[in-house]
Amino acid sequence: MARPTSLFAILAALVACASPGPVGIPTGSMVDLTHPFDAAAIYWPTMEGFVLETEFEGMTERGYYYKAHRFRASEHGGTHVDAPIHFAEGRHTVDEIPLDRLLGPARVLDVSSAAAKNADYEITVEDLERFEAEHGRIPDGAVLLLRTGFFERWPDRATYLGTEERGPDAVAKLHFPGLHPDAARWLLRERDVAAVGIDTASMDRGQSTLFESHRILLEQNVPIFENVANLGELSATGAFVIALPMKIAGGSGGPLRIIATQ
Ligand SMILES: [Zn+2]
Repeated sequence: MARPTSLFAILAALVACASPGPVGIPTGSMVDLTHPFDAAAIYWPTMEGFVLETEFEGMTERGYYYKAHRFRASEHGGTHVDAPIHFAEGRHTVDEIPLDRLLGPARVLDVSSAAAKNADYEITVEDLERFEAEHGRIPDGAVLLLRTGFFERWPDRATYLGTEERGPDAVAKLHFPGLHPDAARWLLRERDVAAVGIDTASMDRGQSTLFESHRILLEQNVPIFENVANLGELSATGAFVIALPMKIAGGSGGPLRIIATQ
């Protein structure tokens, strides 16, 4: 148990440094909210998937074992962050996102029963109000996680994305749920969340062509987490999220390791 204790000591110190950052990281169980980056990892139909190549593996001439890879990946595939500049010129690049937007108390809104019946479901203001009626106001600095249940379909492209096809013509065939633009506007007007995440390939539903919820959130420098995993393991209000993307200088997004403690 020495390792978790020291990890939490480090995390607590990190959070303390980010004054006036969030306090009270739960020290119970840890949940990995990240899908593995492998050949099956889901990327947008127009993008190449995750590629891992071996640079060296085996015994060296000097008699010790050595293994090293190189990887190639789009910024926007697998579990990843959309930095604000992805859809909003002049806003934060991924390396510029303040750390206090990448961690905070989680609020998990479950719309999985509606999404199971309708892959084109959009999460509404009414869903947010219903959540608050049951669980209380979404606090300032919260990481709001939208649980559609689609994380359970990973990595089956046909059911996760609505199509297995690739290429530009596949985009019109995407069917998965997302956040309605009116709900994105409500979040910015009525609440002060640090970030918003979802367990689908995009914050806007698959049938979106204007990506309005992306534009609304990113314009206000609110980062978006996509393809988040394992949301069924989180309680509605008891978890704390830590979401640390690769710090790509000038990047519009990047691979994300997101975990929660609860
Ligand atoms: Zn993205």
